[in-house]
Amino acid sequence: MDKHQNFVGGKWVDAVDGATQPIINPATEETIAEAPRGSEKDVDRAVKAAAAAFEGWSDTPPGERRLQLMKLADRLEERTEELAALEARNVGKPITVALAEVPFLVDNLRFFAGAARCLEGKAAGEYMRDYTSWIRREPVGVVASIAPWNYPLMMAIWKIGPALAAGNTVVLKPSEQTPLTTIRLAELAADLLPAGVFNVITGDGEPVGAGLVRHPQVNMVSLTGDVATGKEVARAAAATLKRVHLELGGKAPVIIFDDADLDLVVEGVKVAGFMNSGQDCTAACRLYARDSIYDKLLAELVPAVESLKVGDITDEATEMGPLVSAEQRERVTGFVDRAVATGHVRVLTGGRNGDGRGFFFKPTVIADAQQGDEIVQREVFGPVVSVTRFSDVEQ
Ligand code: NAD
Repeated sequence: MDKHQNFVGGKWVDAVDGATQPIINPATEETIAEAPRGSEKDVDRAVKAAAAAFEGWSDTPPGERRLQLMKLADRLEERTEELAALEARNVGKPITVALAEVPFLVDNLRFFAGAARCLEGKAAGEYMRDYTSWIRREPVGVVASIAPWNYPLMMAIWKIGPALAAGNTVVLKPSEQTPLTTIRLAELAADLLPAGVFNVITGDGEPVGAGLVRHPQVNMVSLTGDVATGKEVARAAAATLKRVHLELGGKAPVIIFDDADLDLVVEGVKVAGFMNSGQDCTAACRLYARDSIYDKLLAELVPAVESLKVGDITDEATEMGPLVSAEQRERVTGFVDRAVATGHVRVLTGGRNGDGRGFFFKPTVIADAQQGDEIVQREVFGPVVSVTRFSDVEQ
């Protein structure tokens, strides 16, 4: 079993207090690694390292910063299979899904690397006599990045790409459940970036994530996570007037009129509703179907959802894996149970755990949901799609 460390100031270090936490493969429930369980002491050490590295990195011309990030992108690309396998094991993603993510995130990193050379200040001019005004874009300083567990490596790239390219230094905290590809990213970047420019510390939301938000030397916080976490972060960041960047939850609707091509609708929902086991902020998870097409849609949707290949994530034919954790599965079960308790919905398929080991939950279709129902209003973040009937455009 791999025992991992934090990456701080260019060095690999244990948590200051020496605490660790197990990392689990959600498809097998096995402990596959150990990562540091940090405290505010780890936050302080990492932020100080990032602050010390800021002057040198922000003075480095964008072209040189770009070059290092492009080299990092090349290294990720060369290791596509290794990274995909690691991501699959830590998140419970089917291997084909994990493999498809790597070229995308490599391309994103290359884009960010170059974009920092194209920044412009549009409004410049003599707005006052004898003075010229212009907008100059400068790095803000230390950026604390806090990532979720659904796309760990992709989120890590979205966090570090723009921030580092623009000349900021970064302390990145991956989700406590899925740190493995982020730690690997730090290993691959270690000799490309000056010490302290990119730091990775692992641990829980409180104290590590929240500790970053509180730290006075952090200038900006970037969070991808739950809406409740976003509110908490925005509130806490106000105390030190940090800049805040939030990417939060979603509840994407699919509106189906009677002239829709149902084959296309069903294929679309099968992918967009159940991708990554529905643990996706853009999951197409609430369907609205017009009366005249409602029953026909359900008759096509249910067998399509039942045909999803759920199971062994190492099998290339598998389309859906487990949820990320036992806790997440309980959360999803709670949503389904409360929907059933309304008395007016029908669970047409799924609605319960998968068989055997792993945090599997069966792909689920809930019919007759009403607009005010929790299942329609709140993000489930699981393989659950609700269907609601409507009769006219106004409605
Ligand atoms: P989460 O909010 O529980 O955790 C996200 C990160 O925040 C984790 O690293 C966690 O440790 C940290 N955290 C928790 N409490 C904190 C606090 N008080 N202060 C600072 N950091 C804290 O979210 P999750 O369950 O890991 O991820 C799922 C959520 O993320 C969903 O709601 C999903 O919609 C959202 N998400 C959004 C996008 C997007 O692009 N908009 C992408 C992926 C995920």
